[in-house]
Amino acid sequence: MYQLDVLTILVLTAANLATVSVALPLIMGKGISRAARLGQVSLLLQTLGWVAIIASEAVSGTWMDRVLSVLSISAAAAANVAIYWALREWLGKRPGERLLLALAVLLPVGYAITFSTYSVRVAFANFVLAAQFLIVGRAALWPQTKASLPWRALVAMCYTCVAGFTIGRGVLGGFFPELYPNFAAPHIVNVGAQMAANITLVLTTVAVLVAWRDEAEAKLHEQAFSDGLTGLLNRHGWDERAPALFDQSRRHATPLALIMLDLDHFKRVNDSLGHEVGDQVLRLFSGVLKEHRRSSDLAARIGGEEFALLLPHTDLEAATLIERRVRNALKAACALEPRLTVDYSAGLAILEAADTTLTAFMVRADKALYGAKGSGRGRLQCAD
Ligand code: GH3
Ligand code: MG
Ligand code: MG
Repeated sequence: MYQLDVLTILVLTAANLATVSVALPLIMGKGISRAARLGQVSLLLQTLGWVAIIASEAVSGTWMDRVLSVLSISAAAAANVAIYWALREWLGKRPGERLLLALAVLLPVGYAITFSTYSVRVAFANFVLAAQFLIVGRAALWPQTKASLPWRALVAMCYTCVAGFTIGRGVLGGFFPELYPNFAAPHIVNVGAQMAANITLVLTTVAVLVAWRDEAEAKLHEQAFSDGLTGLLNRHGWDERAPALFDQSRRHATPLALIMLDLDHFKRVNDSLGHEVGDQVLRLFSGVLKEHRRSSDLAARIGGEEFALLLPHTDLEAATLIERRVRNALKAACALEPRLTVDYSAGLAILEAADTTLTAFMVRADKALYGAKGSGRGRLQCAD
């Protein structure tokens, strides 16, 4: 039967890894996240690992062999740590980090100590590496996150598969060294292991690219929904988030308050002090809103100098109190920055059965706001 040549596959794996290690940073550019960078580092360390092991074969039996072999195993262990850290950055805290790090230290030390006993060294190195692969594979899948499942499943499958072959290699080297006298031995398990390493390289690259795309998408999403000047939700963000809160409150018949706020005579600030100062005033006011918003509240800049606060589980009394706090906090902030002094008018509506749509609810709060403007500004008016 046609026999695949392990050394050739290995050299190709190393060459492909080296190519990807250079190509990915070039393609992905500079402004990438820590996670993407760690993914790249992992590929680079894998390259180093394979190159070192190929090189060690050329100096077999010398002290350089030992140095290169230990270097190779260290790089492989570190590559697993890097990809694990990348997963942690992408997906949040993962289990097994301490064990993974302990294994990364144990691996080169144990390998160096057992170097002269081939079967012990090979079994030890492969079993420890396999344990690392399994930790990485599990970290890709579990605990669940919102990140897209397909690429996580891909990574998990790959690393689990490689772990299986690596255990196979350990068993061969440890208990049947005559079948696995060196890393290029043409045993079917070894061929499978090398093929799996190759496939992992391809899929890891794909996973890094997909995760990178997901990241860019999330950033775009975030940018599309938040206001660049103030960091509050913008109109899009409001339209995306407010209806859900509105529907929830209606369905469960819980109180919901809506306050529309509009800065008073803001045009005069721009006209007399300049647009730049106008922007500072907008930021100051937004800062006050952010400070007084609870995590469940929505605060949005829905127009130039118009803002909206949507407060779940808030009745008339509580909403009035919150508005008073905002007003006092704004006064205090303006006292510290007299140049940016500004006031606002506000309209408050509490959800009623007649508010069948968010728009109708907003219209009532808006009417109250115009009432406040008409009756002298700098005040809160309640709807109806
Ligand atoms: P009123 O008390 O009736 O609300 O008067 P006003 O001057 O606040 O209202 P008007 O709607 O006449 O003017 C709003 C101004 O807000 C006009 C516009 O130039 C300014 N504006 C809108 N967006 C921005 C912005 O991003 N930065 C700055 N500096 N000004 C803005
Ligand atoms: Mg205004
Ligand atoms: Mg206005």
